[in-house]
Amino acid sequence: MLSDFADYHVHTPLCGHATGWPVDFAARAVELGLGELGFADHNPMPERFDEWRMLREDLPRYFEEVEKARTAFPQLTIRLGLECDFFTGREAWIEELRGLATWDYFIGSVHYLPDGTEVDHPKFISRYRDGDVEEIWTAYWKTYETAIRSGLFDFVAHPDLPKKFGFRPAGDLRRFYEPAIAALAETGTPFEINTAGWRKECAEQYPAREFLECAQAAGVPLLINSDAHAVSELGSRFAEAAELARSVGFTHTVRFQKRELTLVPFA
Ligand code: ZN
Ligand code: FE
Ligand code: FE
Ligand code: ZN
Repeated sequence: MLSDFADYHVHTPLCGHATGWPVDFAARAVELGLGELGFADHNPMPERFDEWRMLREDLPRYFEEVEKARTAFPQLTIRLGLECDFFTGREAWIEELRGLATWDYFIGSVHYLPDGTEVDHPKFISRYRDGDVEEIWTAYWKTYETAIRSGLFDFVAHPDLPKKFGFRPAGDLRRFYEPAIAALAETGTPFEINTAGWRKECAEQYPAREFLECAQAAGVPLLINSDAHAVSELGSRFAEAAELARSVGFTHTVRFQKRELTLVPFA
């Protein structure tokens, strides 16, 4: 049932690479019968940082657009969040962002490795082609674990992101997953099944089934999110994701209100 699920990972045009304003997503969420809708655009940095996140001065507009959607669709619960990039040394900025609004959740993401490589950016695809797959995966998962243990985030986004272009190290990938799952279990942090993976070269949800199995065994809660950058992507392939989650033993998903987590059973 789509009404059992929230879609909490939704972008807006303020990040510069998404279409559809919150009111447009809200109309679609009502049409789909989603349980809740939540926005999580790419977080601003205090300085101009890269070309794919909202600017600091656009935060008031972000709040305004979410508020407009709430007013237009009072029957729909609409949450306010951010997708925050984790950088070692920049933790204080995330804390500062925390104070700027009544947030329902912060999603922790790793798109950048400590050396500046963007794991999901096509401009770095040659690093994968040139045989650095094992090295990228190692650095990514180490950073991912650090992000989880930072305690800054209410849940974490798209585990498995470095498989985006279809490059995976040889052998059993659980050696990468297990330390991250231990960190999730120890800190009580949920993760998302991100259905955007089905739209990429890897042609598979993030994370892989093996990750889901280990996380389920460790009692880590999960969400299902679309990472929509367009209205047509909202709630995409949620039925398949739910079936996959169910098949590895998950029975509940998670909702957030002002950073308070509630477990919700799904059918
Ligand atoms: Zn994006
Ligand atoms: Fe992301
Ligand atoms: Fe995203
Ligand atoms: Zn994302």
